[in-house]
Amino acid sequence: MITIKLYGKLITDSQQLTTENIIKKYKGVYKKEGFWKCVQCGTNDADDFYSYHSKCINETITYCRRCLLLGRMDNVNSVIITASTKQKSTAQYQLQFPLTEQQLYASTKIVEAIKAQDDLLLDAVTGAGKTEMIFNGIQYARQHGLNVAVVSPRVDVVIEVSLRLIDAFKNEDIDVIYEGHSQQFNGHFVVATIQQLLRFKRHFDVIFIDEVDAFPLAMDPILMKAIDLASCQKYSHIYMTATPPKQLLKTIPIHKQIKLPARYHRQLLPVPTFKYLQMPSHKIQPTLLQILKQQIKADRITLVFVHNITDMKKMYSIYRRYIEGITCVYSNDGERFEKIADLRAGRYKVIFTTTILERGFTMACLDVIVLRSQLFHTSALIQIAGRVGRKLHSCNGLVLFCHQGVSWSMICARRKIKHMNHLAIKKGWVDA
Ligand SMILES: [Zn+2]
Repeated sequence: MITIKLYGKLITDSQQLTTENIIKKYKGVYKKEGFWKCVQCGTNDADDFYSYHSKCINETITYCRRCLLLGRMDNVNSVIITASTKQKSTAQYQLQFPLTEQQLYASTKIVEAIKAQDDLLLDAVTGAGKTEMIFNGIQYARQHGLNVAVVSPRVDVVIEVSLRLIDAFKNEDIDVIYEGHSQQFNGHFVVATIQQLLRFKRHFDVIFIDEVDAFPLAMDPILMKAIDLASCQKYSHIYMTATPPKQLLKTIPIHKQIKLPARYHRQLLPVPTFKYLQMPSHKIQPTLLQILKQQIKADRITLVFVHNITDMKKMYSIYRRYIEGITCVYSNDGERFEKIADLRAGRYKVIFTTTILERGFTMACLDVIVLRSQLFHTSALIQIAGRVGRKLHSCNGLVLFCHQGVSWSMICARRKIKHMNHLAIKKGWVDA
């Protein structure tokens, strides 16, 4: 049996420990300079704490509401912080394909940042092949005994990235941690949701943050704090996203930001087309119906993005009368995973959806149509457009923004896509 070592962690039950060194013992929340402070999430905002009188112990109990989902921190129960340790590993990995010129460039920059204990932001287009870019950095870090975490706010991103890392780093003990999935090894190489980082304290030398701006917790202060509290005193944070939020662009100095404008298959990003289209929610829109029928005839799969679930369901119920092989999927959909699996298996030709499919979903012969696109944020539009043309044998497609008045976010999205294409041509990283 493997004994799991909980190094650099916040522990509520000392029975879980074997040989780990305890460096501190606290109450889960304690008073510091007159203010309550939570050990788990670090908040000292008075609004985050709630007090009540417990008849059981005849005492007033104060607890942190902010990180309640990860286990209650209060002023009665003690928590332990264990010492972090470092351990080297060989971190040999296998690549399916050699890195592209751009991936090599990014990979070198990442290793440099790790060596210098610097931050780095990769502003990388959708389909750039981000995961492969970090392999070399992970290897360097692990060979030098540095603790590595690869994190994202989204569980589906965590699962997908973990599968690829486990496949590439066959001999490494990789801990994959998200709700319902706990630590199996010693926590030197972790793939986790950012929320789970709240359980680690001063442990990671290198943290890769994938899709930091992703729904539902884009740049949430509690998550940014979790990253800080889980980091060693000297650290390297590597942020990766196709849509870096303004706040992040402001925090990271410009010379620590790199643009990666090319897709791994060396083809340009599909540029969105704008089309004025009135969209009644209660009846069919003939032009849209015609477009969808043409799409089916051309053997394309079409994702139709609608801004909110209510409208989406309404429209789906209308269009399903006219189109075969149509379905809809949204965040609270109980059959969400089955539907996505069926979609991948080619059972559906037209899928009405919300922004739930804006990231992480990739398949061949895919086109996207955004209805009332003026209502979407720039980042959502860029991510949606980024679904198209991801596969080597299917690197083109339709990105259609249907609107009732062009919005600034539509203009910004198209401008950024075009800008990245120009940059990719200039760098010679695409075959255009
Ligand atoms: Zn807390």
